[in-house]
Amino acid sequence: MPVTPDLTQPKPMLIGGEWVRTTDATFESINPATGALNFRICAADDSLVDHAVGSAWAAVRNPVWRDQLPHQRAAMLRRIADGIDASAEKMARLQMLENGKVWAECKAQVASASATFRYFAAVCETVSGEVTPSRGNYLSMTKYEPYGVVAAITPWNSPMTMEAQKVAPALAAGNAVILKPSEVTSSTALELGRIALEAGLAPGILNVLTGLGTTVGKRLVEHPGVRMVSFTGGTATGRVIAHIAAEKLIPVALELGGKSPHVVFADADQEAAIDGVIGGIFEGSGQSCVAGSRLYVQKSIAQSFVEKLVSRASRLRIALPDSQGAQMGPIATFAHRSRIEAMVDSARAEGCEVLLGGHRPDHESLAAGAYYLPTILAGLKPDARVVREEIFGPVLCVLEFEDEDDLVQQANDSVYGLAAGIWTADYKRAWRVASRLEAGTVWINTYKQLSISSSFGGFKESGIGREKGVSGLRLYQQAKSIYFGM
Ligand code: NDP
Repeated sequence: MPVTPDLTQPKPMLIGGEWVRTTDATFESINPATGALNFRICAADDSLVDHAVGSAWAAVRNPVWRDQLPHQRAAMLRRIADGIDASAEKMARLQMLENGKVWAECKAQVASASATFRYFAAVCETVSGEVTPSRGNYLSMTKYEPYGVVAAITPWNSPMTMEAQKVAPALAAGNAVILKPSEVTSSTALELGRIALEAGLAPGILNVLTGLGTTVGKRLVEHPGVRMVSFTGGTATGRVIAHIAAEKLIPVALELGGKSPHVVFADADQEAAIDGVIGGIFEGSGQSCVAGSRLYVQKSIAQSFVEKLVSRASRLRIALPDSQGAQMGPIATFAHRSRIEAMVDSARAEGCEVLLGGHRPDHESLAAGAYYLPTILAGLKPDARVVREEIFGPVLCVLEFEDEDDLVQQANDSVYGLAAGIWTADYKRAWRVASRLEAGTVWINTYKQLSISSSFGGFKESGIGREKGVSGLRLYQQAKSIYFGM
């Protein structure tokens, strides 16, 4: 019988349906809202990575899983979704303790995770293979098969949604999964493992390996038994993983960083645009891959628009994440806050103007946490470090543009291409500019709307491959063509 993790001891990891403890190798989960210790968590070593890969292969070859029909796998995914819904409060609380996101956002992310399992259940039992046009006396068809064992590696900013986004389609496709969550947010992944086991998922089909990325994550990607890697995280890590995958000749899906342009034309509904820009950068304390971190305002309205924006942003409520009406919680870790501070210092050194924030809040109740004020920077050169590099924090860079051509040139002058936003009353211009921007997602007169039924991924150094949508299932399958002689 699986043992329920005990919060008074280091949390064990899930391998082959068993909760496995390490005796000495553990690491800490810290609450960024208060600096308090949340949990201690067991860290895997190389032998546990081997054990997880071996268990996953045994499980995926077992007829109990291998012979399940799509509608049966779909029923399993729906049971997991039910389990997530039943544990919604607990999962939301675990995420809030570990990454400090405000309560309303944590709740919404749990709901999104269960909806993702339901979506891929529907895809799993309705998507079909193809009977292909015959060029002779045969019947030819293409069917889609799982890779076998897939590694899913996730970041700390939105762990539940990212984990659901990878685990649900990978299971729907018939694989076994080894999930390696960020060391900052292990608990929701462990909870997902418990829910899947209790829903009746065969032992070894979902394994959760906890530990550090540079050891456990790297070893997992290198392991000869891992046939596909699905990764969300920073571009530098993505590049390391892509190199290993190239050596092994295995497919990878990489959802990486961004530096998304958020564009306001002079004819935009300015009130709506201000709300969109503020939500686009400050929600989740800016720790979002699609954060609209480069604001481009048309010159003719720039001064008045930015004044209103600064005034509105200065009223954001930064508070303990479970306090009533909190709009921004802490940064997810103290180390990450230091990185954000260093980036803002670099902008100061390059002569920028700090229009808002640029330091920690001085309120006593927030002194022990990793808080950082909403920050707006202006007077930046296009090659300033804060304009070019992802900060992944509540820092907005304000830039100006003359016309469409100038805007497109500036907005596309980035190694990233994850998302973009456009505010304008002219739908023809919206279409023209959206078509010219190099980004995997473009929002027009809205920002950060995301649907599991639309594909998601990046242009340029923001990634390779597309998750979500019906084709999100195919990411975890390989095509096989079969010919019947007639
Ligand atoms: P990292 O790239 O540092 O880490 C992501 C995951 O990879 C973590 O689980 C980490 O483990 C693991 N990892 C680290 N090094 C290795 C390695 N050498 N081999 C295998 N795994 C490794 O990113 P962050 O967690 O800091 O997340 C923030 C980044 O994620 C941002 O750049 C952001 O833009 C990006 N992101 C992209 C999204 C997208 O969809 N495009 C969505 C959300 C975030 P550990 O934590 O233990 O180090």
